Amino acid sequence: MMAMDNVLKLFQTYDEAFRLAYSGFSYHELRAIHKEFNSIIDANAIYDAKKLLKVVLKTHNYPKKLNPKPLLRKQDFRITGNKCSIIFKPGERLELKVFPSEKQLKLMAGANPKGARLVERNGKYFLNLVLKKEVAFQKEFETVIGVDIGINYIAVCSALTKDGRFKNPLFFKGGEWRHLCDRKRKTTRIEEFNRLTRRQHEILHTVSKRIAEYAKRFPKPVIVLERFGHFQNNSKNRRFNFLLGNWARKKLQKIIEYKANWEGIQVVYVNPAYTSLTCHYCGAKGKRNGLVFTCPTCNRQYNADSNAAMSLAKKFRQLLDEPEAVTGERSAVDLSSTVEGKAYLPRQTCIRHGNQMNGMMVTRTVRLPLGAGGG
Ligand SMILES: [Zn+2]
Repeated sequence: MMAMDNVLKLFQTYDEAFRLAYSGFSYHELRAIHKEFNSIIDANAIYDAKKLLKVVLKTHNYPKKLNPKPLLRKQDFRITGNKCSIIFKPGERLELKVFPSEKQLKLMAGANPKGARLVERNGKYFLNLVLKKEVAFQKEFETVIGVDIGINYIAVCSALTKDGRFKNPLFFKGGEWRHLCDRKRKTTRIEEFNRLTRRQHEILHTVSKRIAEYAKRFPKPVIVLERFGHFQNNSKNRRFNFLLGNWARKKLQKIIEYKANWEGIQVVYVNPAYTSLTCHYCGAKGKRNGLVFTCPTCNRQYNADSNAAMSLAKKFRQLLDEPEAVTGERSAVDLSSTVEGKAYLPRQTCIRHGNQMNGMMVTRTVRLPLGAGGG
C-alpha cells in the first residue's frame, strides 16, 4: 500500500500548493515549502490556481470550496501497457497500475494522450485521461439527421436522405426519466438523490451513444440539434423546465456532440423556431395536441416529437441548398451570432495560421482506475 500512500501525499502537496498559490504565494515561496517534491507539481498547481483566480476576479463568483484535482501534462506521466508512472519527487516517480476496460483500451488505441488529472472518489483514485485525435470532417452532407429532445421521448431522431425521404426514425422513451424526476422530487435523502442523478447521467450517455451509432449507419451524415438558449419564453421551454431541466438538455447535446465528433460526424445547431409547429410534409402551420400533431392543410397526423425532428432536418437541408446561408466563419455554439433561421457550421479555420483545416481536433476523457503495483 506504499504506493497509494504516496498518491495521497501527492494529492495533499498539490492541494496545499493550489491553496497557497490561490492566496498569492509565488513559485519560489512554494518551492521553499515543497523542497522534496518535484517542482512540476507546484508549477501545475500555480497554473491551475491562476486560471481559477482569473475567472473568479472577472465574474465575482467566489467558490465555496476549493477542490483542486492534480493536473498532469502529457510529459508528466507515462502509460505503457498496464503501468503508469507519474512524477513525484526528484529522481523518484510513482509507479502505479491502471485498469482500463476493453472499451477504454479501444478509445486509447486510436488517440494520443493530451493530459490528465488525478481524482479521488470515495477513497479510490482514478486517472482522468484526456485523449486527443484529429478527425477528418466531410465537406458535404448527404443524410441530415434531425434530433428533437423532449419529455415524452427523451430524443427522437429522423434521417432525411438525399432524395428527400425520411428513413428509420429512432425513439428513446422518456418513462424512466420521468420516473427518476418524480423520485428525485420526493426524496429527502441525499444519497438517494445522488444515485438517481447518476442513473440519469447513465441514460444520457446511452442515448447519445446510440444516436451517434445511428448516424454512423447513413452515408455522409450530419446531426442537427436545436439551438437552445435564445428562446426562453415560449411555452415549449416552460413545459421543459418542469421535467427535463435545462442542464439535462444542454448536457445531452454536449455528449451527442463529442461522441459524434469522435466518430467524424459533424453536429450543427439550428434555430428551432416553429419547428415543432410546422408540418414537415407540406410546411404549413399545424396544431399540437399532446402527443399528436395535426396538419390542417394536408390532413395528416404525426407523432408530434417525430414531426419536430423531421422539420428540423428539413430546415437544415433547405439551408444547405442555399449556400450563402451556411457559413464556415462562425462557431456553431457562438450564440452571439444568432441570425434568424440560419445555421452555422463549426469553425474549420485554424486560428493560429488562418489555414483551412481538413479536420478537427476532438478530445474526450476516460476515467481509469488506479491501483498499487507496477515497477
Ligand atoms: Zn401538412
